[in-house]
Amino acid sequence: MKITALAGGVGGAKLAHGLSLVLPPEDLTIIVNTGDDFEHLGLFISPDLDTVCYTLGGLANPETGWGRMNESWNAFANIERLGGPAWFRLGDSDLATHLERTRRLKEGKSLSQITREFCGAWGIKPAVLPMTDSPVRTMVDTEQGELAFQEYFVHRRCEPRVKGFRFDGVEAAEPAPGVKEALDSTDVVILCPSNPWVSIDPILRVIKQLEKPVIAISPIIGGEAVKGPAAKMYQELGIEPSALAVAKHYRTILKGFVLDNIDKKYAEQVEAMRIKARVTDTLMKNAEDRARLAQDVLHFAGSL
Ligand code: GDP
Ligand code: CA
Repeated sequence: MKITALAGGVGGAKLAHGLSLVLPPEDLTIIVNTGDDFEHLGLFISPDLDTVCYTLGGLANPETGWGRMNESWNAFANIERLGGPAWFRLGDSDLATHLERTRRLKEGKSLSQITREFCGAWGIKPAVLPMTDSPVRTMVDTEQGELAFQEYFVHRRCEPRVKGFRFDGVEAAEPAPGVKEALDSTDVVILCPSNPWVSIDPILRVIKQLEKPVIAISPIIGGEAVKGPAAKMYQELGIEPSALAVAKHYRTILKGFVLDNIDKKYAEQVEAMRIKARVTDTLMKNAEDRARLAQDVLHFAGSL
């Protein structure tokens, strides 16, 4: 079965990794959000793409889920000492990725091409594609005005109350090379348990329409996000955060929805929306959990 997975950073990367453990690489394509991308210290940074690649390549920091394993922070400490910007931490090994990516972009290469080259160097077999090579920038409308995504997410630690989102550049953005082909040849599209508002929605906006069956895995477990602001965003937008809210968020495109055992009370309401529900353990604490959930999702996909 051919699978195309849409992913943001940490949550998306975990399931993408699980899928990579149970599928032949040629059957898996991962399309990654680039709405979080930004320039910092003159470098082009693509946080979700890096999180997915580091995770698939076995390079990720297992504690944080983002950044590099066995990282050192000498460059950052020295930048800080010079009075440079200290709000966005970049480790030494991670910095090498941004330096080299920026250099190749300046040579005229595209983000998708560079990602392919990096995946080759890191031994990552499934296709990892940025959603687009064009600039798309997630803007967060808050009670303190509109903020660029990293300003909201990292600098302000998601504190300002959210009023809405805008994806600057999304109308003009073409899907990156390979994205259309993957979606045409795939059997199923999987929406990883990523933040629906700022990780999956931008990808859906770029790819516009989906003709294949879509399955989503809830990033909200027991009314809370495992990590990050997804639940807080639902709350601030006046929606009670729950797996059911996620199913409703995607209801027009979903054929199947995977929710956690502790949320099984919502299964009936999901099915009432004519979406097949699958209740299972969705918390991924280690590689075994990731592979088991991925296998479960594949069985579910096969049954639809
Ligand atoms: P980000 O770009 O790094 O913020 O990452 P994503 O958007 O891909 O993922 C963030 C979402 O992943 C959060 O809403 C979390 O609740 C969810 N998440 C993280 N780990 C898990 C997990 O093990 N299981 C599930 N179901 N969701 C998870
Ligand atoms: Ca992200």
